[in-house]
Amino acid sequence: MSTHTDTLVIGGGAAGLFCAWRAAGRGTVILAETGPDAGDPPPAWSLYDYLLPDPHYHRYTDETTGRALPQGRGLGGGTTVNSAAALRGQPWCYDDWAVPGWSWAECLPAFRALESDRQFAGDAYHGAAGPIPITRLGAGPLDEAVMDWCAHAGFDHVADHNAPGALGYGMWTTNRHDGGRWGTYAGVTPAARAAGVDIRADTTATRLLFDGNRCTGAELLGPEGPVTVLADRIVVCAGAFGTPALLMRSGVGPEPVLRELGVPPVSVLPGVGANLQDHPWCLLDVDVTDVAAIEARPVSGALLRYELPDPRAAHVEAEIFAWQARPYDPAAPATRVSFTAALMTPRSRGRFTLGPGGPRVCTGHLTNAGDARHMAEIVTRTAELVDALAADGVVAVPADAWWRAGDPVAAARAVVSTYNHHSGTCRMGGADDPATVVTPDLSVLGTTGLSVADSSILPIIPRANTTLPSMMIGYRAMDLVA
Ligand SMILES: Cc1cc2nc3c(=O)[nH]c(=O)nc-3n(C[C@H](O)[C@H](O)[C@H](O)COP(=O)(O)OP(=O)(O)OC[C@H]3O[C@@H](n4cnc5c(N)ncnc54)[C@H](O)[C@@H]3O)c2cc1C
Repeated sequence: MSTHTDTLVIGGGAAGLFCAWRAAGRGTVILAETGPDAGDPPPAWSLYDYLLPDPHYHRYTDETTGRALPQGRGLGGGTTVNSAAALRGQPWCYDDWAVPGWSWAECLPAFRALESDRQFAGDAYHGAAGPIPITRLGAGPLDEAVMDWCAHAGFDHVADHNAPGALGYGMWTTNRHDGGRWGTYAGVTPAARAAGVDIRADTTATRLLFDGNRCTGAELLGPEGPVTVLADRIVVCAGAFGTPALLMRSGVGPEPVLRELGVPPVSVLPGVGANLQDHPWCLLDVDVTDVAAIEARPVSGALLRYELPDPRAAHVEAEIFAWQARPYDPAAPATRVSFTAALMTPRSRGRFTLGPGGPRVCTGHLTNAGDARHMAEIVTRTAELVDALAADGVVAVPADAWWRAGDPVAAARAVVSTYNHHSGTCRMGGADDPATVVTPDLSVLGTTGLSVADSSILPIIPRANTTLPSMMIGYRAMDLVA
């Protein structure tokens, strides 16, 4: 069976739903999403639960560490399984890309258009009318204790972590409505349906179709079996692992990968799957002495952002914050809190690849010696905070705390894991750069009719959780794609 549409969008996550919604202004749109659609209005679990049933995840594993690397699956993608922490990053994150058309000033209008900021809508850099609500929750007792420590340690107070250049302590910016997670599933799907987007859930794009180098559509496998969709423009928004996998399966990728898969090459691009980036984090688990102190908080309480001094690198940024473990792990004691030490300026790079046996992922966390040193410093600072809270009787620190044992760099390397911000595997850049996969207009090099718009195009990961940057890319796609 074959059908035609003006725009085919593959992947309905943070970027894909924005892309499909805006594409409806240019004709017919089919959105193929491999995972489920739980309908409108969004059910309560999609707003309030943090550990969802298995169909809502793609399960990957870091082949070096054996640690889990989940990805969201289903309408909303990562925004339906994530913690709704909503940061944009700093202006210099975008300016440092040096990609024409993608400076901070050029990305800001999309950041404004996609949000309605509940507290700071009047500020020039915020929006008041977009579908994603941005809010800061009130501080609970643990947040107050953390922020007192930050003040005594000399950090500045930040009312709005999304103000350009904000550094210091204050409440997390989150994408929530009535306390519930409000990502693209809740926020954009109703508008996309109303605009006429043909949303096909449980439908996987198995292969892109080409006539020479022109992408003409894709083979989809849905509840009614295989379907060929022909389209004037195809935009792949399948995420940091789903996008390179689909490109590789379709003949776009590094030559050795295509040869191993036995796929005829359409465009040989060594950059597909390379440049994998993520923010590494180390978790310092403690218990609050009074469970009322944490108010059943997922990631939405107090946040400290600061820069580490380093004569060899500018703006090396760290995050420190605490969250209650139980919403993510029902077996955890109600008192368990993970204090997070995160490096937001990683220089380590990993790789995603596809072989006949399936995907292989290596994040490369802390393989760069500078990253490992920075992480050890952030862990030391976080331990100071935890020790101060323990001295005040707010938390109890385990006697065998890993961060007190031996060499801090080795200790950090032993426990480091993912902040779930995988990106960069189809990096955007100049056509003359051999690492480039998509050009600044989001076209896939060596092809026509094919674009990528999602977290995979990020050339350098911003100093931010990656939902808002991914939404910004999806929002902008239809302004750039021919
Ligand atoms: C557990 C977890 C917690 C996180 N916490 C936060 C947080 O609190 N704050 C934050 O800012 N970021 C967070 N992130 C990261 C953030 O959610 C992602 O960076 C963001 O969703 C990426 O957007 P995307 O559009 O690139 O991909 P996604 O949102 O992952 O969307 C890709 C979509 O494509 C679909 N797809 C893949 N392959 C195919 C195919 N072949 N055919 C059809 N469909 C396909 C997938 O099922 C998925 O729905 C978290 C991520 C995870 C996994």
